[in-house]
Amino acid sequence: MLPGPTLIYACPKCGRKVANESLMSGNTFGARYFSDGKRIAPMLPEFPDLIRCQSCDFFFFLHEQEPVDELFRFEEQSDVTLNEIDQAKAPGLDDLVLALQQEVARKKENEISIRLDLWRSFNDRTRNGKSLFLNENDKHLYLNNCEALITLIEPKEDQFMVTLAELYRNLGLFEACLKLLDSLEDQRWNRLKAQFSKACEKKMTEVFELK
Ligand SMILES: [Zn+2]
Repeated sequence: MLPGPTLIYACPKCGRKVANESLMSGNTFGARYFSDGKRIAPMLPEFPDLIRCQSCDFFFFLHEQEPVDELFRFEEQSDVTLNEIDQAKAPGLDDLVLALQQEVARKKENEISIRLDLWRSFNDRTRNGKSLFLNENDKHLYLNNCEALITLIEPKEDQFMVTLAELYRNLGLFEACLKLLDSLEDQRWNRLKAQFSKACEKKMTEVFELK
């Protein structure tokens, strides 16, 4: 794994700077894959994209911004000290819910991205051996989010079909899940299809690790 430069961005509203790490190269050695499409790869870390400005609370995506500066490791850093700049932090569940009500979510692709993050953040609880829902409100939020994603995601590619199938399974709509997976013709999905079938047979709705 080869780290890239630290990229410095500025909040489009107030100009407060935020630093995000980058990667020159990595690999998927030792990676774990889950039914909701999440990959945990120690040699291929992912960096935050959606940012909540720590100064003015404005939400923005880094991929829609140009970095204002790049800092390379071991380079003389004369006028900028990284200690003075906020480190980009992935938004938590509450921030993601808040972001959905903000300007940043008005673009469809952004709304999908925030909702996918929200979905996987909830699923992280299962991944960490905790309960998926802490209360009824959580459950309502989770199920609503799954339904919203189903209406937003267009199954243009196989990968999106798998995401939709998983969302149906999370909602307990097992027949709809299996029907979607059945329509995937490429043999590379066979292993995944078998694991989803088994989960549906057992009426399992929570995220699971793919073997
Ligand atoms: Zn700001």
